[in-house]
Amino acid sequence: MESITIDRLGLSEEVLRAVQELGFEKPTPVQEKVIPLLLKTPTDLVALAQTGTGKTAAYGLPIIEQISIADKNTQALILSPTRELCMQIAKDLKKYSKYVKGMSIQAVYGGTDINKQIKALDKGVHIIVATPGRMLDLMYRKKADITTIETVVLDEADEMLNMGFQEDLNNILQDTPSDKNTYLFSATMPREAEKIAREYMSDPEKITVGKRNAGAENVEHLYYMVQAKDRYLALKRIADLNPDIYGIIFCRTRRETKEIADKLINDGYNADALHGDLSQQQRDFVMQKFRVKNLQMLVATDVAARGLDVNELTHVINVDLPDDLEIYTHCSGRTGRAGKKGVSINIVHSREKGKIRRIEQLIGNKFEHRQVPGGAEICKTQLFHMIDKMQKVEIDHDQIDPFLPDVYEKLKDLSKEDLIKNFVALEFNRFLAYYKNAKDINFVEKSRRDFSDRPDRQRRPSRDAGRTRYTRFFISVGSKDNLNAGTLIGLINRYCQDREMEIGKIEVMKTFSFFEVGEFYADQVLAAFRGAKFDKRSIQVEVAQPREHSGGGKKESFRDRRDKKGGFNKGGSSKGGSYKGRRRERH
Ligand code: AMP
Repeated sequence: MESITIDRLGLSEEVLRAVQELGFEKPTPVQEKVIPLLLKTPTDLVALAQTGTGKTAAYGLPIIEQISIADKNTQALILSPTRELCMQIAKDLKKYSKYVKGMSIQAVYGGTDINKQIKALDKGVHIIVATPGRMLDLMYRKKADITTIETVVLDEADEMLNMGFQEDLNNILQDTPSDKNTYLFSATMPREAEKIAREYMSDPEKITVGKRNAGAENVEHLYYMVQAKDRYLALKRIADLNPDIYGIIFCRTRRETKEIADKLINDGYNADALHGDLSQQQRDFVMQKFRVKNLQMLVATDVAARGLDVNELTHVINVDLPDDLEIYTHCSGRTGRAGKKGVSINIVHSREKGKIRRIEQLIGNKFEHRQVPGGAEICKTQLFHMIDKMQKVEIDHDQIDPFLPDVYEKLKDLSKEDLIKNFVALEFNRFLAYYKNAKDINFVEKSRRDFSDRPDRQRRPSRDAGRTRYTRFFISVGSKDNLNAGTLIGLINRYCQDREMEIGKIEVMKTFSFFEVGEFYADQVLAAFRGAKFDKRSIQVEVAQPREHSGGGKKESFRDRRDKKGGFNKGGSSKGGSYKGRRRERH
């Protein structure tokens, strides 16, 4: 069905002129539904729409139309989860109201001088765009008055709730008049958002754009399956296969974000990190670099990348699938925006298959399993990318022409074929060398593995006179956290997907524990536990000193016990105990 043009929505001449100048010809689906509705009737509204759907204009244009310029009181309040989004919304609204004389819009957010914001508010502001914390602060200081507002928008409501702003929202909303209109925009509808809708809205209109919780429609969802220890290698190969990549790489933790960005930079990629440990100034700097495409890859936590409004992303890559599957819609929704095609790539390990299925159900879209490219494929792609660039290169004749006669003279004995060969080799040797012996890192189901061509398999595990050598790890949870030997083995199984891995001694102490795994798997364990959680708590796993042998062998080993009892001990009470055993009691 052909959609209507933007001039048919009932917007005033001033607003229409501004948005047409921005190149808006047709309304996006959410705008087509929301704008005429809000222009016509005062109403509460719940709209399921994510970033990138044009939702800011969907609520912003009707709000601009409803502001009475002569009235200097604040008439609309827009709440959003992050400083970046706040600034973005205010910037967008200012563009949309460019021709509305006297309109005053102010963004207020934390992490910056409050006095400047107070000064701006003192002059009288029609629309405040705020983060909840800073808004409350200004209200307590009696510098922001929202007792006369006509409209409140909760933008990215699910995110505000995720970030723990529930109480702040309640406190803010309590200070607003009961006859105001409330618009709640959210990508997903968690229970808390429904509760807000019930408590603060009366009979709201409900609008869903596309499918409920749908990922952006023009996003292709792919996944690559590798062992946890090979995630970074896979990421590099994906980047190498897409030389023009302009994308965000999502990580779960700040530490992982930093590590991956550092590795990419060291390996010569045009990448940088964005996470909560950076100062606001550093974050702004990185974001700006990315916006103007001086950076190809931004490695970021999901929260840090909120509000980063970039339409041309070619890829988003999840190095870890998020635990909260609904975050996936946010991350993948960063690409494929404003009608452009995008690719959402997920690097997963075999135990995350279930997660993929659940996300597929959530977004109503299939994921395609791709094979991690091998060296030959990458080298070919890079080669043709380079040749392509060479064909299109712009030549500055004024600068180059004077040198050419000497260059021709120097190369006169080379045939065309040799010239091409040398030129290609010159540019290309680095890639060829790197990928020369690149192994296949695709995860292969055990039943399909062909052990004969896996040299690494023959090396494992490291054995000393027939005995496995172990690496000992410290883990930051213990019996106080309800951990016992059984749950610890379960935890190791959950995060480390190689079922051949041998587990040695386990010692569960009060607030921390130790466990051993075959030395061969040490790196894999460290990588797998990065960002891991136990009972919703972040856990740290580090290599520990080898265990000092007590000599007398007082403590019974897990295996000893099993042998005595003729079966596996379930590992129920394990405080301070030491157990040893192979892990394979589950699948
Ligand atoms: P939003 O979902 O509000 O973050 O908007 C995503 C992007 O789409 C922004 O960069 C807007 O400028 C752009 N946009 C919004 N509405 C339209 C439209 N009707 N036509 C073209 N681009 C739009």
